[in-house]
Amino acid sequence: MYLLYPTASSAWGYQGHKVVGSIADHLLKPNAKQQVEQILGNGFKLPTVAPWPDCVKSVFRHDDGTFHYEVDPNHLDFEVPCTRFSSTEERARMVDYARRNWFTCSYTPDGFERGCHNTFHFEDIAIQRDSYDRSLQGTSDHDLVAAIGAAIAVLTDKPAPPPFSIKDKREALFLLAHFVGDLHQPLHVGSVYLDANGKLVDPDVAHKVDAATETAGGNLIQDQNVNLHHEWDDIPTDIGEAATRELLADARSVPASQGRIEDWPAAWASDTLVVAHDAFAGLTFELSETQPGNQWTVSFSDHDAYLRAQDAIKRKQLAKGGARLAEILNAIWP
Ligand SMILES: [Zn+2]
Repeated sequence: MYLLYPTASSAWGYQGHKVVGSIADHLLKPNAKQQVEQILGNGFKLPTVAPWPDCVKSVFRHDDGTFHYEVDPNHLDFEVPCTRFSSTEERARMVDYARRNWFTCSYTPDGFERGCHNTFHFEDIAIQRDSYDRSLQGTSDHDLVAAIGAAIAVLTDKPAPPPFSIKDKREALFLLAHFVGDLHQPLHVGSVYLDANGKLVDPDVAHKVDAATETAGGNLIQDQNVNLHHEWDDIPTDIGEAATRELLADARSVPASQGRIEDWPAAWASDTLVVAHDAFAGLTFELSETQPGNQWTVSFSDHDAYLRAQDAIKRKQLAKGGARLAEILNAIWP
């Protein structure tokens, strides 16, 4: 049952999520900082909890209908950011959250049943588009923008809109800290849909997604041994797992968001979608003959230039993610 796990997207490695949480932690104003730490309790801070929704992916549903958190002995690396949630109470919370958010939509990529909560981490908007709109293919009422909106609702004393089940403000903070990070990973928002010749197709013209053209945010596109999505999840190693002086300086220069807080997630998704155009620039694709099913391989017009641009985009997006996570929390608790 573990064999296919986790081909679903997991946005930024846990390091990226910790960095986003750490940047935000530095930018919180005193009231917001106090509220956040009081709600989180246990000495938890934003960088501690930001990986939580990925840790929840280790909750599995057994054939008898029960749910269990299971450490995968073949992937002990998945546990690294999750050890802070290994107490009986924290494990029970993860199982409970997964159960409450499991059947609220059907999500069975490659035929393997995953809970609906796995869909909260991403959009799959065609890169031919340049702004987020809920009417587009690759969006849903349980997508990343909706998930951030649901977390904001709970933190502002409103009920979470369906299909979300968010138990309390603590759970909402766990989700917000993670999903604002995901929203800034370009391949968590923009995707390419490809035909058998590796050419772009447009699901919005057809008004539906042909499953044979889906690349799942680059998860089905191979660059040598790594898939393109995971290549974007990794952050530059010199950053480590916390805010750096450079990232904080960049975060402080991110322009303030305009309008109502409820509209920010969609506006930020549009911003990231434009960044995704750059993330796919200069790439060509070919249906793979060596990979099973519908998978593609990627070639680069100039690989070194691509890697340099990718590095710069990642740093900029981490800074934006941290700045915007703090911006929401400072707006909720001025
Ligand atoms: Zn995620």
